[in-house]
Amino acid sequence: MSLGSPERNLKLNPNGRIYEAKSVSSLWVKTWKTTPRIDCGLCGSANCSGFARALVVGDLDLAACPLLKLPKYSELIEELEALRKRSPTLVAKPAAKLPEGGVLFTRPCQDTDEKVMAELRVFNGVPEGIPLRFGVFDPKLLCDLMDCVASGFELVRCSRDLGYGRAEINDMSITFMQDGRINMRRVSDKKEVLDLFNRLEQSLLGAAICNCCGNDLLSVLSGIGEMPKNQHPVLSAGSSTSLDLSVVESPPSMDDYASAFGSEGFSICESVKRATAFLRDSLAPRRGHNSDTAKPPPDLGLSFCNAVELAAESKDNRTLTMALMTLGLLRAVENGIQGILEFRSTIDQSPEHDPSALAELMTSTRDGRLECSGRLPGPLVELVAHLSRVNQAIRLLSDWGWLT
Ligand code: SF4
Repeated sequence: MSLGSPERNLKLNPNGRIYEAKSVSSLWVKTWKTTPRIDCGLCGSANCSGFARALVVGDLDLAACPLLKLPKYSELIEELEALRKRSPTLVAKPAAKLPEGGVLFTRPCQDTDEKVMAELRVFNGVPEGIPLRFGVFDPKLLCDLMDCVASGFELVRCSRDLGYGRAEINDMSITFMQDGRINMRRVSDKKEVLDLFNRLEQSLLGAAICNCCGNDLLSVLSGIGEMPKNQHPVLSAGSSTSLDLSVVESPPSMDDYASAFGSEGFSICESVKRATAFLRDSLAPRRGHNSDTAKPPPDLGLSFCNAVELAAESKDNRTLTMALMTLGLLRAVENGIQGILEFRSTIDQSPEHDPSALAELMTSTRDGRLECSGRLPGPLVELVAHLSRVNQAIRLLSDWGWLT
């Protein structure tokens, strides 16, 4: 099966209507693509992917996203309504049995018994038989994380539409599926299978979806989301590893993180400091809020990938939990940087906004106390949404004690 041509898998649902099994996941992908995709969190979900999942299962309705009320998104509303109507035909699949250590089987390869093939399963915390509302992996985040492990392989391909990825090196190939299965072909021996699985699982675990809220593990771990942390089933995720919940309850300080991960950890902390300074400087009162006066944004892409590598190399549950939590924080800060850039660009395109209202919004965002609840004034909704991304990052940094 190639990346571009998934096998068709037709099934009959209890209502007698034929649907494609793969449509369950593709409906969420289509719904996500039809959201504003700015990850502001104003709807109560951590990001637009979480909103799309909550929308499809009926946990949220379209009114939860204030952006969709803007004329520029009117077409999205129509498409989302149409997608939403399809959701009652979906049937939640029960979660599969968790094999010991995540290994479904290992056996000699068919063409050479000097190598082995294996199938393994990443666990997202949902016990066997419980309806799996959203699948195991968020396809986009899975691919973002896979991009970060690409340097260890000769070839990495990942489909954000299908939640299907493939990595190859020498003779060996590994496929990743949205339902949590990982297939390996032509691996040297069982020990290599287990070592590889453990590293890959630790790199990709952040893309696991929480069965209760529909948010991804990185968002839950970093502290974005509504529910008390100990009620998210995804915190039990991990087939060959597990999280240390005492770390989740008390986020690591910068010093803890740097001392756990040495020079790489220190360098990631320095990047976060530069990004934080950029966010706060960008929100400092200045005449006209003109983007000409703004500094270029720091690029957190390399730090993000380095943090994925640190997660893969973690030797115990405590450091893995710290690594994944910090990955979630980096993603929030990166989203905050994108938010401030889009805020500036929106202002430049529509300079009619009241400068004093903008200054007030920016000041409260700079302190992480932007008030986003209640009715938002129409013309400001989009600007508030972008500032909400910044506010979310600053609030997390403050909660973690990383606001320098
Ligand atoms: S409120 Fe923000 S995060 Fe939620 S769906 Fe709308 S744009 Fe996305």
